[in-house]
Order: sequence, then structure tokens, then C-alpha cells
Amino acid sequence: MMRQYELVERVKRYNPSTDEALLNRAYVYAMMAHGNQKRASGDLFFGHPLEVAAILTDLKLDDATIAAAVLHDTVEDTQATLEEINKSFGPQIGALVDGLTKIKRLDLVSKRAAQGENFRKLLLAIADDVRVLLVKLADRLHNMRTLQFMPPEKRQRIAEETLDIYAPLAGRMGIQEMREELEDLSFHNLDPEAYEAISRHLHEVTTKSEKLVDEIERTLTAKLHAQGIEATVTGRQKRPYSIWRKMERKSVSFEQLSDIFGFRVIVGTVDECYRALGVVHTSWPMIPGRYKDYISTPKGNDYRSLHTTVIGPSRQRVELQIRTVAMDEVAEYGVAAHALYKEGVNDNSRLAVESRAYQWLRRTIDLLAEGDNPEEFLEHTKLELFHDQVFCFTPKARLIALPRGATPIDFAYAVHTDVGNTAVGCKINGRMSPLLTELQNGDEVEIIRAEGQTPPAAWESLVVTGKARASIRRATRAAVRQQYTGLGTQILERAFERAKRAYSHEKLKGALPRLARLSIEDVLAAVGRGEMFSGDVVRAVYPDYKEERRAGLLDGSMASQPAARPDGAGETVTEGIPIRGLSDNLTVRFAPEGGAVPGDRIVGILTPGEGVTIYPIQSASLADFDNEPDRWIDVRWDFEAEPQRYPARIKLQSINEPGSLAQITQVIADHEGNIDNITMKRRTQDFTDVTIDLGVWDLKHLNAIIAELRAKRTISRVDRVTG
Ligand code: MN
Repeated sequence: MMRQYELVERVKRYNPSTDEALLNRAYVYAMMAHGNQKRASGDLFFGHPLEVAAILTDLKLDDATIAAAVLHDTVEDTQATLEEINKSFGPQIGALVDGLTKIKRLDLVSKRAAQGENFRKLLLAIADDVRVLLVKLADRLHNMRTLQFMPPEKRQRIAEETLDIYAPLAGRMGIQEMREELEDLSFHNLDPEAYEAISRHLHEVTTKSEKLVDEIERTLTAKLHAQGIEATVTGRQKRPYSIWRKMERKSVSFEQLSDIFGFRVIVGTVDECYRALGVVHTSWPMIPGRYKDYISTPKGNDYRSLHTTVIGPSRQRVELQIRTVAMDEVAEYGVAAHALYKEGVNDNSRLAVESRAYQWLRRTIDLLAEGDNPEEFLEHTKLELFHDQVFCFTPKARLIALPRGATPIDFAYAVHTDVGNTAVGCKINGRMSPLLTELQNGDEVEIIRAEGQTPPAAWESLVVTGKARASIRRATRAAVRQQYTGLGTQILERAFERAKRAYSHEKLKGALPRLARLSIEDVLAAVGRGEMFSGDVVRAVYPDYKEERRAGLLDGSMASQPAARPDGAGETVTEGIPIRGLSDNLTVRFAPEGGAVPGDRIVGILTPGEGVTIYPIQSASLADFDNEPDRWIDVRWDFEAEPQRYPARIKLQSINEPGSLAQITQVIADHEGNIDNITMKRRTQDFTDVTIDLGVWDLKHLNAIIAELRAKRTISRVDRVTG
């Protein structure tokens, strides 16, 4: 176990003005508090906080962080109290220990299902001070190093959580060494066989290619030196987990993996980075597409470096990272490399200014405050943790970092929720472009806005950032729900009237348990969406109610049209339209200009003397009948009927360039859709509006066509039109 003076020595090595007395007090306090407690390994517990502190001294962190690491388990696991810590060590260390205690309590109750919620609380607990996260990561690292003493099922859960959350967080904070060790330890626990196999292979390769690594190091150092560049070149073997991921991603075997080694070239200045790159590229052939300049556009965690891959001596692929000493420090220590704490500055706002990694953390925490579903949140955050980023700019040169694959819609929401909600178009690098363009590094994006817009619900599935998705969902959910609730109210009032029973909110409230819904609004919305039948609601309120409906009877306003009521006609179709819930002597037709297709939720509107018109429930025309609930009829598709084609209408916005129309028709043809009619109208110099009437089998068919059209670069938007 580390002695008191050893801990002080470790800190003194990088911080000569360390507060020795503080460290000594923390050491003694924690030692007394933990007393004779033992860990699962049988070792004295006190060894654990000391190891955690030691990990943090490798990151060269400030006294408060080291002291907090030594004290991190005292409040939760011993008689020590937070008041005592506050009194003895001051409010700053007290706040750190408090954050760590909260996280520890999360760990104790952590279950797979609760993971999202836990992660959310974890981030909130560290929101005040990023140092809480650094101690927590070191704590997890030491626990992972000693995981073999835990029972197997606990081991599995802790390893999964580490791989899902802590390793990516360490990476996101820029502490790559720690991320890699966490990944390897998790991998070892979760899949010991694969881990052993890869390690064995790696060992063989290392033994065989020791000479090769030496040779590359020597050759490259000499070549750089000849150009007047002093550089340190080190070869490094990849880690088992990163090799495993690569094998999984590219589904290749170990033998097929060519780049097991990476080389780091550390030079003095930025200028020398580019010159060194020149030397590398003129000495060996480079592999196209592998060169990345993270110096001019750093990664979201402030990582800066040049990456390239060349065919080295012995015809073997060699990966190279070229960077300065300062960049290398950030690459290894991430957030911790921002020397603020080391200078004894404890102002978080300065860290926020300097470190992108911390900005990311802040953004993620902001998102938490808005999020409504912890699991969704976890999923988005995980996605964002793993994504590489693209960096784009506003016209005023504000930098907006987005995950790769992000669109201008994501960009708009990243600027501000209001900008996203009112976005109608965009210019990328000064040119009008579709809102669905995938943004590239360095793009300048100008969002064109129109006030009073609500974002189309379809955007939700087209954006990649959690923030955009959550905002779109919020904006559309409210509007849609209101619409369905209104519709549900009308359908229900009509149904009760038909049943000659009184409807009241009070009565419906009493029936909620029977309907398995939590509120009246839920019921109304469910009926409006067609998820619940009005008759079922009537029966839930009046269990004695027997519906007088027989097969083939008109379910709806036919009560007021006795002449049209047939008896025992069976469930039939009218004019080949397979709709249930109607009598067979009613004329049925689809709404003009884009009707319903099977799979749509539908409503029939009765026009006395004319028949019934079928509308998809999202149809805007239905608003015209809002005040005539008597005309609304429950109908549904007869899925046993013969398949046939139905007319649907879509509207596209296409970019004016040769071949764009051909692309559209090709997509429809590929999906065996029938084009009945196309009309085109040039809208601006850049865009043409295209309206297409087509025949499709059902909603799935239609959606497949729309989805593929949306994926085309020359098509900026596709919407279905319903009459
Ligand atoms: Mn601990």
C-alpha cells in the first residue's frame, strides 16, 4: 500500500507547490475512517482510494482532486459525514466528495433497465465540476483492474456498464490511455476467449516484427533529421479491444488485418508537423482516403494530430500520427491536460472556455434537462459518444460541432431550438441546398427561417443529434396530440349518442382502469389515433351495454338514414374498395388528391345522398367536418380482400440538375410503383416542385418509395399529400 510520503512525492513531482499538509490530512482521515475494512480481494480497503489517487497523479491533477480521490468512499462506506469533510477540508473538496457519494449510490442500485436513468443522474452529479468525473473514471478503472474478485454476474454488469458508458466518456474527455485500458479490461471480462485469442496473436506478431518496428523508427527518425526536423518516433501495438472492434466492423480475420502497429511522430511545432508529413509522403506511397488533418479541424475533445497511412518498408501498411508535444499531451490527458487545475485555478468557467470536451459535457447535460425519456436519452448520448464529428460554421463564423452524418436541420437546432423549429431552407457555402444534405467539415451553413412554422414530424427520423430529435418530437407531439384528442372527443360523443347513453368526463374517469389508460386525454387520443374503438369505450363505461351492431350493419350515422340500412348483408365491399364497417349499398370513394392506402388509419365521412368518402386520418380536409360529428363514421380496412393498387400522391422538391427526374422515376420503378401522373413546376432557379400520382399496394410500399427518394442527393424533400 502506498505510504503517506509516497503520495506526497508523486504529486510534488509535477506540482512543487503542492499543499502537503492537505494531502497528509486527507490520507490520515481516510485511513482512520476505513480502519480495518477489507475489499473483496481480502486486501485492506484503504488501498483502493490510494490507488485511485495514484491514477489521478498520472494525469497530474490538482490537490483538491487528489484529496477528493483519497476521501471518495468515506461518506458512503464509513462513519464519516459530509459535514465533517466540509469542516476539515473546505467546501470545494466537500462538493467533490458529495458528487462522488451520489454517484456511488447510483452504482448500488444500478440495474440494466435503470441504466439510462442512472447515466442521467451521473451526468447531473458531475455537472458542477468535471473533476468529479475524473475521480469517478479513476475509481472505475481501479475497480476494473480488480474485478476478478467479484462474483461473475456482477462482473458482467460492471464490465458492460464500463464499455457502454465509462470508456466512451473517458474517450470523450480525451483521456485515451484510460479509455483503452477500460475497454480492454471490459473486453477481457465479457469475452475472455476472444480476448485471449487476440492477445496470443498479438504477441506472436510482436515477436516477429520487433525488427520491423525498430527499422521504421530508425529510418523515419533519420529521414526527418536529414530535413532538419527533430522528432521522437515510437511504434505502438494496437490494443486487443480496438483490434476486435475492427475485426467486427470490417468482418475480417486477424490475419487479414494489416495495421496492427501505429507510429507516433512527435515534433516541436505545427509547421514541423506538416513538414514531417511531407517527408513521410515522399518516402513511402500513401494510401488514399486515410489522410486526416485534425490540426486545422480538431476533434470535439480537442484532439489535434495529423493521421496518415502509408505502405512502409516490407510492403506493409503503417499508420502514423504526427503531432506536437503539446498536442500529444492533450491526446493523452484530454480534459486533464488543460493545465488550469495545476496552476491552482479553480474557475470552471475558464475550463469551459478552453476545453471542447467540457463543452460537450455541458451540452449533454443541457439536453438532460429537456429530455423526457431516459432510455432515449441514453441511446442518443451513446450514439453521440461514438460518432466522429464534423465542424461547421455559422455565417458569423461561430463553430458548431456536430456528429458525422448531421444535416442542416441538426445544425439549426444546435444553434438554437427556435432556429430549428422555424427552419425552412438553407445555404451551404453560399449555395441553396436541401435541408437533408450531409454536412461536411468546414461547411458554412446559413439557415433560412420562416416564423410560425412547426417542424414536420418526419424530420425526427432524419436528424442525427439528440437535441434536434428531442426538440422536433416536443414540437410535433403537442400539435399532433391535440389533433387526435379533438378527433377522439368527436368520435366518442357520437358513439355514446348512438348507444343512447350519457357521456361525461366523470363517468369515463371511472372506467379508466378497465381501459388500462391513465387519463381521459389518453383515451381520447387513443380513439383519435384509431388504437381504441369507440364501442369498447362505451362498454367500459356501461358494462351492460350490448352493441346492436351486426356484421354488415353500418357503424355510424346510418341510424339517421334508416332507408339505407340493410340486414344481414355480411361484411362487404363497395365497388371493390375493401373497407369494413359499411353497408354494401353505400357508394364509397376515396378523397380526391391523395387518398388513403391500406395501413393508413382511416375515417369515413358521410355525405347524405352521395355516400361515404374515405380519408386518411391525418388528412387536412377533415378539419372541414369538425363541426359535423354526425357525419364521421368508424371504418377500417378489410385485409382479407384481394390486393390492389391505390392512388397516392407525393410531392417532392428536386434540385435542378440533369438526370434528377430520371433518378426519381427510377426509384419508383425499382419499387414497382405505377406512375399515373407527374406535374412539375419550377420554383426557384435551384429547385423544382414535382407532384407525382402513383399507384401503390399499401402504406408500407408507399413509405419504402418515400424513404428511398429521401435518400437521394438531388431530392431535397419528399412529402406525402393527402386530400
Ligand atoms: Mn471507490
